[in-house]
Amino acid sequence: MIIQLKASAGNTGLEKLVSHLAKDGVPRRRLDIFSGDTYTLVGIKGNASKLDLGKYQSLDYVLTVHRISDPFKELSRQFHPGETVVELTNGHRVGRDLSLIAGPCAIESREQLFQTAELVAKTGANILRGGAFKPRTIHRSFQGLGEDGLKLLAEVRDQVGLPVISEIMDARDIPLFVKYDIDIWQVGARNCLNYAFLDALSEVPNPKPVLLKRGDHVSLNELLGAALRLYEGNPQVILCERGDKTADRVHRNVLNLNNVSYLKHHYHLPVIVDPSHGTGVRELVVDMGLAGLAAGADGLMVEVHHQPEKALCDGAQSLSREFGAMTPLAAAIWQARTSLNATQADLGLLEDATAA
Ligand code: PEP
Ligand code: MN
Repeated sequence: MIIQLKASAGNTGLEKLVSHLAKDGVPRRRLDIFSGDTYTLVGIKGNASKLDLGKYQSLDYVLTVHRISDPFKELSRQFHPGETVVELTNGHRVGRDLSLIAGPCAIESREQLFQTAELVAKTGANILRGGAFKPRTIHRSFQGLGEDGLKLLAEVRDQVGLPVISEIMDARDIPLFVKYDIDIWQVGARNCLNYAFLDALSEVPNPKPVLLKRGDHVSLNELLGAALRLYEGNPQVILCERGDKTADRVHRNVLNLNNVSYLKHHYHLPVIVDPSHGTGVRELVVDMGLAGLAAGADGLMVEVHHQPEKALCDGAQSLSREFGAMTPLAAAIWQARTSLNATQADLGLLEDATAA
């Protein structure tokens, strides 16, 4: 951290700052002081992550405070050799293999779930999604089947042989997710910054991988802060980009693909793109999903329904047979992108703990 004093601070300001830092556990020997003609800079060596930046910024003799190291250091590629790879029980490796997560927005019935699961399993999905607890805008809309939905999901997993992902909305449901051994626990956009909930998830013993969706208009720093909370208790964290609402109401949401590229360049967690919620419009889902892979995503999460026109939730953004038309293209783009990553690493465009 570097603190720049105001031109008017003088020696008194400098001494006040030094004693402030000492009270916060930073002795003088950890300081490098540079006095120019006008300004004095105080550099703090070593770990300054516990210092409250705002407090120092508010001192009346301080002009600016800069943090030098990434506050999300543990997630940064600079401090972690290689990518985080999340291995599922069937051997699929999220972050190393192309992850194609597909299935219905909501589990509606045995017949709907089994038909859709068979469709996606035959056409290239390697993880099955299905919502049992649905965060609906209108509370009178279909809310999901709850525990019965998780039960069906566990049954269909045995039948089609794909690991399953489902959204957990409430810490009180943790025992159910454990009971049905849900392979990936999804934290939805609405809970992205629900810190008490994230802390409860990070304390689950023998935790399963967690997929954390970026909430609407949640900044990258907020997303990384939320991811780090989970990561401290459970390093199997997968990030998911699902777009923001914009002033343009033609689309439900607009994907932020800058985020995908940025996260992959600087951080080591896998990133999945959800082009279904990220657009809200069926005709855009394939195009934007492929664009997400071109931007560096490790995979996609796509809503598929065997009869989208009958879906109880998100039918307008659900694919049916088009999913199978997308998967070969997805694999080709992901493959090409993997070669580009190697070139970028050679050129030093990817942060890399082993490069220094
Ligand atoms: C979902 O994936 O079912 C969902 C509700 O998505 P989001 O949290 O992105 O709105
Ligand atoms: Mn949905």
